[in-house]
Amino acid sequence: MEYVLQTNNLSKVYAGKYVVDHVNMNIKRGDIYGFIGKNGAGKTTLIRLIAGLALPTQGDIQLFGSTGLDEQRRRIGTTIENPALYPSMTARQNLEYYVRLYGIPEKDAVDNILELVGLENTNKKKSKNFSLGMKQRLSIAISLLGNPDFLMLDEPTNGLDPFGIKQMRELLLELNKKGITILISSHILGELSKIATVYGIINNGVLVEEFNKNDLEERCKRCIKIKVDDTRKAITIIEDKLSTVEFDVLPDNIIRLFSHTEQVSEVNKQLVLGDVAVESIALAGQDLEGYFVELMEGKDND
Ligand code: ADP
Repeated sequence: MEYVLQTNNLSKVYAGKYVVDHVNMNIKRGDIYGFIGKNGAGKTTLIRLIAGLALPTQGDIQLFGSTGLDEQRRRIGTTIENPALYPSMTARQNLEYYVRLYGIPEKDAVDNILELVGLENTNKKKSKNFSLGMKQRLSIAISLLGNPDFLMLDEPTNGLDPFGIKQMRELLLELNKKGITILISSHILGELSKIATVYGIINNGVLVEEFNKNDLEERCKRCIKIKVDDTRKAITIIEDKLSTVEFDVLPDNIIRLFSHTEQVSEVNKQLVLGDVAVESIALAGQDLEGYFVELMEGKDND
């Protein structure tokens, strides 16, 4: 498996406190990595370490499988230190300025990128008159000028309205389709869940968990969790009386039933009528936001 980024015990101490605390982060080629944490959790600091805008106190970074970071960082695009947008310039003029600044050879780069970020029809409009979403997309356009393989975006949807969020989402999916691996930080899980393929959750500088989209769906799946004395007997009743095979069996005689979630008492009644002892029965699973909050609260209480 090809990794775009791996960190090993990466840490940053500010004023005697670990704001990034021994982080082992893994991002594979093609991922859209949703980097989630509350404000102050350490997301920006971690991204700055990767981009080379801050020095680690401890630990290592590998980019594209190499520790030659100066070379590899040229393959990263980021909006972290927002490239200055010149307010009295149009989108095209802004991009052309950076093309000259970076000495980018391709003549078509500006046209292609303007179209990609959906700013091709802004004509003479000056960037000071852009909506926040348009400004964000222009910043991303500038970060795309170096033709990056890996894009790191720090809260790119912050402050955007639902339409701006949707446009940003579509842009990121488009970029990913073109082969760009993306790290996108946010404090709102629900928003990321529409595009992320992998998640990393950071809390107080600690990378609490990394998991993929399927894991998350599995963990959040709504079901009735039933603990019984005899799983075989219970399964027969579920299949015969409730006419469903949408269940699985976990250790400790626990059955998760993914249908009938609005009919908990009926399920209970059928099991009891079938002479199964039901030790516990309850709805489980939640939406993504709920899962995130629960995960964070659990960690805060540690
Ligand atoms: P997030 O991006 O998740 O909101 P940050 O990485 O910005 O979190 O901040 C993490 C912690 O590090 C915060 O407590 C913040 O105050 C602290 N911090 C960030 N940058 C500095 C700095 N340059 N000097 C001192 N403390 C900092």
